[in-house]
Formats: sequence, structure tokens, C-alpha cells
Amino acid sequence: EFAEISIKDIDQIAKSSFPLCMRHLFEKLREDHHLKHGGRMQLGLFLKGVGLKLEDALAFWKAEFSQRVGSERFDKEYAYSIRHNYGREGKRTDYTPYSCQKIITSAPGVGDHHGCPYRHFSEENLRAALGKMGISNRAVEDVMDKVRNRHYQLACTLTFEAVHGTSCDAGINHPNQYFSDSQKVLQ
Ligand code: SF4
Repeated sequence: EFAEISIKDIDQIAKSSFPLCMRHLFEKLREDHHLKHGGRMQLGLFLKGVGLKLEDALAFWKAEFSQRVGSERFDKEYAYSIRHNYGREGKRTDYTPYSCQKIITSAPGVGDHHGCPYRHFSEENLRAALGKMGISNRAVEDVMDKVRNRHYQLACTLTFEAVHGTSCDAGINHPNQYFSDSQKVLQ
């Protein structure tokens, strides 16, 4: 568990330590200044799990969404659900970030960017995304082999190992575990 991350470090941290599912959502949010509900939940709870405080989360989402819908509409339509995720609205449940199992079994529709790229991307898009992470052709082939056999978390584990140049014996079972294991390697 990491105490806190701040907005100014978030792009660099996303690049170095987010698993592919979260990198994809993060990049789409930066690009489109918008994410549909499933993506907001998956990324929002993950960011909470990595230590983004509520005030920073509101500022982070607002900076993007206001470019698209304006800050008034953000305050009216989107801020509530972010506070809700942090247990500050409604039943005040402190929602937990999604596990790989939950993400892999989700069913993203057209225009959605949530889900697990190993499970939900086309082969072409997955190869391109892995290429952007800078892993070798050999490692890409090993990952694709796991994907073909529907071992999505093993594919993610191999990606982790290729990116960090170290073994990950426990395997990946949660995006926040990927993140904390990555930070341990990098620090
Ligand atoms: Fe994300 Fe888990 Fe899929 Fe990796 S295996 S991309 S952490 S959902």
C-alpha cells in the first residue's frame, strides 16, 4: 500500500507502473477527455487504490472532462459518482478496486475502453499496445501464446516480467498488485 500519489506524477507513473488495462483507460481519457461509465469505474477505483486522494481525483477528472463537457456539467453530472466511489455519497460504502477476474469477465461494448486488453483487444490492437510498452518481439510472441490459450493473467504476468526485466513468481491477479509490485521493482 502506497501512501499517496500526486497528479503531477501521474503520467510518468502510468507509463512506468500501470498494467495495460489501466494504461489504455488513462491514455483514452487524456485523448478523448471522456470515458464512459465502465471505464470511469475501473480506472477511478484503481486510482483510488494506488493512493490518489479524493480532492486530487476530482481535480484530475475535472481537468479532462471539463474540456469536453464544461466544468459546470462536470460538477453536476460526474463529481457525485467520484465522491461516491470514495464513500462520500449515498450508502457511504468504501468501494474496492476491481480484480483481474472481474475485469476479464466484464463485457465492454462499442465505445467502451474498460475490460482486459488481453481478453478484449483484437490481436492487431494488442500487438500494437505491447509494442508501445517497448517489449521485445520474442516476449510479444510469448504473450500472444498465452492469450491464444486464454491465460490472460499469465499474459499480463509475462508482460510485467518483460517490462521490468524481473520475474513475477506470484503472477498477476489484481491491477493494484501489478502497480505495487512494479513500484517495488522501480524504487
Ligand atoms: Fe489488467 Fe489484470 Fe488484465 Fe493485467 S490481467 S491487463 S492487470 S485486468
